[in-house]
Amino acid sequence: MSRGVLSSYCKQGSFAMVCSRTMASKTAVGFVGLGNMGNPMAKNLLKHGYPIVAFDVFPEACKEILDSGAQITDSPADVAERADRVITMLPSSPNAIEVYTGANGILKKVKKGSLLIDSSTIDPAISKELARASEKAGAVFMDAPVSGGVGAARSGNLTFMVGGVEQEFDAAKELLSCMGANVVYCGEVGTGQAAKICNNMLLAIGMIGTAETMNLGIRLGLDPKLLAKILNMSSGRCWSSDTYNPVPGVMEGVPSSNNYQGGFGTTLMAKDLGLAQDSATNTKTPTPLGSLAHQIYRIMCAKGYSQKDFSAVFQFLREEENL
Ligand code: NAD
Repeated sequence: MSRGVLSSYCKQGSFAMVCSRTMASKTAVGFVGLGNMGNPMAKNLLKHGYPIVAFDVFPEACKEILDSGAQITDSPADVAERADRVITMLPSSPNAIEVYTGANGILKKVKKGSLLIDSSTIDPAISKELARASEKAGAVFMDAPVSGGVGAARSGNLTFMVGGVEQEFDAAKELLSCMGANVVYCGEVGTGQAAKICNNMLLAIGMIGTAETMNLGIRLGLDPKLLAKILNMSSGRCWSSDTYNPVPGVMEGVPSSNNYQGGFGTTLMAKDLGLAQDSATNTKTPTPLGSLAHQIYRIMCAKGYSQKDFSAVFQFLREEENL
């Protein structure tokens, strides 16, 4: 295995800084946040021969990755002390702020020139703040949220949407391509998050539209499988109708046919729609359907659907009409 040190000049913000980190070698990679997504992602890095130094607030979350050969540390700061490339996969903006800038956060012990990649879905404005704070500490921060659920995380088929200094993209891609099939550069820091929340807003709107359409068709006497077949050969076709149909029994291997378990949780969808609404407000962009989708998913959370897959909006609509 070859070992080398890359030194490059990279522009971030208004001034240039020297980045110096171990590259083109399989030195330790830090990983913070070992939940549903982080765990299989870190395992894929291990499979590609990268030693992992990891941390999660829940000790149970660390167990699997420990058994797979990773080292576990006591804090995000300790991860950053022992690795000059760190990936974070956390639930939401407050967790990311804590992990980067908290009392035991990454920036407390980060090495100069380190590459910090946040794959959590968070507010793009927070990504920009974390990039500024990282720059002050002499490190480079990139946002790289993912599309694709736990299955894609396990099989290494995620799509990464990457924002940050373009000169650092190749360094990020070296690691991200061990966990994903597509690694797309989007632009300056925060644009990865922007792409992610735009995609999820459209996904939510499409899923609600598919659910209410299927429900109406069933009420009108159509067989759900036949209706899905017709939609999927017609102009109403979309990912929610042909790949992830929300009606139980229409497709196999999707959450709707497994009591809406697994998949992408309603709470996470509500969070992403909230981020889209914050961004729409900040940019004075009208998003009436995104706003309505946000309200529907928030109500679902309040009515006990929070742990179910977001396609459970079909079941929610069925229950509402029986009131
Ligand atoms: P998760 O809740 O399963 O995992 C998050 C992990 O972060 C947990 O193990 C938690 O203990 C840990 N954590 C929280 N605060 C921490 C802290 N301060 N220090 C260290 N660890 C901390 O969430 P997930 O499903 O893995 O999702 C992670 C991110 O990926 C979210 O932003 C989500 O929106 C996004 N995402 C999820 C999916 C999906 O299908 N689950 C798909 C695409 C994107």
